[in-house]
Amino acid sequence: MKLKLLVIAFLALALQVHAKTDLKKVEPMNWWVGMNNPNLQLLVYGENISLTQPVLSYQGVQVKEIHKVENPNYLFIDLVIGAETQPGKFTIEFKEGKKNVASYKYELKAKNTQPNIHKGFSSSDVVYLLMPDRFSNGDPTNDNHPETVEKANRTLPSGRHGGDLQGVINHLDYIAQTGFTALWLNPFLENNQDAFTYHGYAISDFYKVDPRYGTNALFLELVNQSHQKDIKIIMDMVFNHCGSAHWFIKDLPMKNWIHQHEAYTRSNFRAPVISDPYAAQADVEKMLTGWFDTNMPDLNQQNPFLATYLIQNTIWWVEYAGLDGIRVDTQPYSYKEFMSDWAQAVMAEYPTLNLVGEAWIQLIPNTTYFQRGAKNRDGYDSHMTCVTDFPMHDALNAAFNEKEGWTEGMAKLYITLAQDFAYQHPENLLIFADNHDLNRFYESIGHDLRKFKMAMAFMLTTRGVPQVYYGTEILMDGMEHQGHGFIRKDFPGGWMGDTIDAFSLSGLNPDQADAHHYMKTLLNWRKKNEVIHRGKLMQFIPEDGIYVTFRYTDNKAVMVVLNNNEQADKTIATHRYKEILSLYKTGKEVILGTAYSKLDSLQIPAKSALIIELNK
Ligand code: CA
Repeated sequence: MKLKLLVIAFLALALQVHAKTDLKKVEPMNWWVGMNNPNLQLLVYGENISLTQPVLSYQGVQVKEIHKVENPNYLFIDLVIGAETQPGKFTIEFKEGKKNVASYKYELKAKNTQPNIHKGFSSSDVVYLLMPDRFSNGDPTNDNHPETVEKANRTLPSGRHGGDLQGVINHLDYIAQTGFTALWLNPFLENNQDAFTYHGYAISDFYKVDPRYGTNALFLELVNQSHQKDIKIIMDMVFNHCGSAHWFIKDLPMKNWIHQHEAYTRSNFRAPVISDPYAAQADVEKMLTGWFDTNMPDLNQQNPFLATYLIQNTIWWVEYAGLDGIRVDTQPYSYKEFMSDWAQAVMAEYPTLNLVGEAWIQLIPNTTYFQRGAKNRDGYDSHMTCVTDFPMHDALNAAFNEKEGWTEGMAKLYITLAQDFAYQHPENLLIFADNHDLNRFYESIGHDLRKFKMAMAFMLTTRGVPQVYYGTEILMDGMEHQGHGFIRKDFPGGWMGDTIDAFSLSGLNPDQADAHHYMKTLLNWRKKNEVIHRGKLMQFIPEDGIYVTFRYTDNKAVMVVLNNNEQADKTIATHRYKEILSLYKTGKEVILGTAYSKLDSLQIPAKSALIIELNK
């Protein structure tokens, strides 16, 4: 009996020693042949995986180096994939002595060769920004998921409301028909935090769509269907931080994977220190290493393994889904050298992509600093092709609320454009009246439809890549100080039982219907007009409450007239604009279709806009 027990105990011990290691992650899960960069670094995660020796054999794939790090549950494997390597699968075996304790079937796929992918986005596009939790609930069965903690509760402004990727797919026609040509989705990767997960910026798995939004395959479906409708897809990526529920945060590969402080340290949120030639190092460090929020650990992109992990993660999504663009959250909060390396690596693989960095800074020189090709005195080049134009946002939000003055009212727009000499690529600035972090535009202009039309007439005809926040086209409102949930309300018609269905324009009030018609007319006109996409811009100093700009090429021109006077309808003598107008004889207003048989004078009502296509 005793002997029997001993044998059982021995067998149990032997089994434990040679037990299969539970391989939890190999990332990237797959890769592709024919990439520009032949190097690939695999992150392998499993209990005591570093005690094993990984072995693989595949023609054209060389194991260059195997890295053991502080935490024995991680291994990093450097592979070199030769230019001639063929697509296929191979097994990575993890050996202890001669025993295999784990294995992983790795696939090198052929690259996606569809013609309508990786198209980038540009000033020929208008981007529609939407928050997946708040746009449309296309699949009520996924509102709650057993794998994720926070459950749906539509009564909470900061709760999950059940919107998802299927909801977006269901309404691609609405987006396309309204006249948008690109779609930026706020992040939809897994956020398995306890609360506040609806916005998506606390990612807990960089390779997995949150199950409450759908699956990776459903996202691929969304991209493919969007491309069929000529809508480009921009994915929102976060490199500064992740969620505290991220699996690698719970078992850090290395202490310096994230920035750790003795006591909780918040970022000072002072982006200008990054370009400040006189910045104190203490301020720079707090900006870069302080946490964005208590539940968002600050990633240390100076750790080369993490840097590679993040860059490969981006490339994986671009290749997997055929993305057209990337929006980079909190660009100045990550080490600027990393952001530059990241942008160069992505553009080396996909030269036709467009990358837009969120550089939330009020002043123009601070903004130019973060765009590719800037002539910065410190030699820094972000290689970020596009940046957010917050100075233009601020001007747009002030211009039509203010009385005209030397620097007030529309002079703010004029002065902003006049400083474009500082940008190397003013045509590739993302311009917007509002977004998911800002007061809803209609609220900020005092619910005044006249101001709304003036602002949209300007924004959709000036230089840059316009971005419209979901619901702005139907005058959704809300102030940021009420709480973020109030600027991210549910799009009416996105949920079963909604009394208003904006998708079919049913139940909208007259102002909303008018705004939507205005936007749809202007957007669809803009879509076909290269003179707006690539034409030159000329502006005349606002005088007497009238601001005139032109977009023009050698044989085409569009005149935009804004009248910011509160009462006076104006008759404008057009002699002052003869540099362009002398070349043209007639015109047609874009929204109303009014024909102008001569152009020597124009009538314009108070607080309104004219967009006139000129004819020779
Ligand atoms: Ca849902």
